[in-house]
This record gives sequence, structure tokens and C-alpha cells, in this order.
Amino acid sequence: MTTISTIENDPASGQPLPAGAVLLRTEPDRNCPLCPRLAGFREAARAREPNWFNSPVPSFGDPDGRLLIVGLAPGLQGANRTGRPFTGDFAGDLLYATLLEYGFAKGIYQARPDDGLTLIDCRISNAVRCVPPQNKPLPAEIGSCRQFLSATIETMPRLRAVVALGRVAHESMLKALGLRSSAAPFAHGAMHPAGALRLYDSYHCSRYNTNTRVLTPEMFRSVFARVRADLG
Ligand code: SF4
Repeated sequence: MTTISTIENDPASGQPLPAGAVLLRTEPDRNCPLCPRLAGFREAARAREPNWFNSPVPSFGDPDGRLLIVGLAPGLQGANRTGRPFTGDFAGDLLYATLLEYGFAKGIYQARPDDGLTLIDCRISNAVRCVPPQNKPLPAEIGSCRQFLSATIETMPRLRAVVALGRVAHESMLKALGLRSSAAPFAHGAMHPAGALRLYDSYHCSRYNTNTRVLTPEMFRSVFARVRADLG
């Protein structure tokens, strides 16, 4: 039988793996060089704001959770600054309030990684781990970072539901799951069965989308209400 091990939690890290084991890297190195443009942007941010996180932002939450939320990429002054997904900018205000409302989080969200907020049965990650200029990663960058998304999925043994926030997260999830876009087109509120998983689509909870009413808080809550009803 194949054993799946991760670099983060492998107790024998640095030791030879057991025969048949597969090592999955769920978190990139702090200086991941795979996207030269993003690495350069990261370095410039480190020089400009040495007290910010300015590194690939790790997933947050419960690896044994049944729900995974996949965003686009860290916001410059949000997760890239604080080091926790969706923490410190407008998108996090709506996301964490909604997770608290539907029982996927507990505590008080205070927009800081040390606010004590914990996720319940839930994990949050991003399709692209490094902050991109203008929030727009290039297709090659999304492709390079998918290995970490795929590893994250494969190392969540109880995973049953994925909420993709926006089209980029949706498309990257489809590729990670080996599904064709034509079989599961992105649409807010849609649910796509994918084997043992269900992929739910939502418009991204960005300030732009909410200011323009592309996404209302009610529309966002309806996605998580359905996930909660399905997961029980
Ligand atoms: S976006 Fe992902 S693959 Fe690209 S440099 Fe950052 S961590 Fe590496």
C-alpha cells in the first residue's frame, strides 16, 4: 500500500522514506523560485516592507477537515502582509464572518494571525501561494503552483467539499482533479460532483466584487449554507 507523507508532518523528515512511500510537498519553500516574476515581486516587497510576511502563504486550518476553501492568491496588504490566508483585508472580513456564522470557525476574527480564531472541519488555501502584481497571476504561475494545491487535496483524508472562490481557483481545482472545464463550467452557486468530492463555486469575496454587487453577502452565505446542509 502506498504511504503518503508530507514534508510538514513527516516525523522522519530528513530520513529515508519507507519503501513505497510518496512524499508530497504541501507547502513551498519560503524562497520558492518556480515563478521568477513572483519571486522578484516578493523580493521587492521584502525590501520595501521588511516587517511583512512577504513569502508563500501556507494553508490555514484543519488537515482533517471535510471542507477546503480555495482562493486566488494572497492580497498584497492582506495575507502577504500577515501570513494567514484572507487575513487583514476586506475579503477576509466577509469570509471569516461567514465561516463563523455556519460553524466552520470559532473565536473572534480580528484580522491578525494571532487573534486565536480557529477553523472547524475546514481549511483555507490559495491556488497561487505568492502575491501577484495587481492580483493577476499568469497561467504559467497558476500551473507551477498547482503542485501544492494538489498535494494539499491529497493529504486531506476526510475531504468532501471544496469551495472555489472565483474562476481561477475553480479552473485550477478542475485541473488538480483531472476534470475538463466543459464538464464543469464555473457559475456562482453551482455544485459539481467529482467522485467523493463536491466542488462548489462562488464569486470571489473581494472588495471589488462586493462593491459592484457582483457578489452580495447573501449570495456568499447561500453557498456556505448549502455546504453546511450537505456536510451535515
Ligand atoms: S506562486 Fe507558488 S510556485 Fe510560484 S513561486 Fe510562489 S510558491 Fe512557488
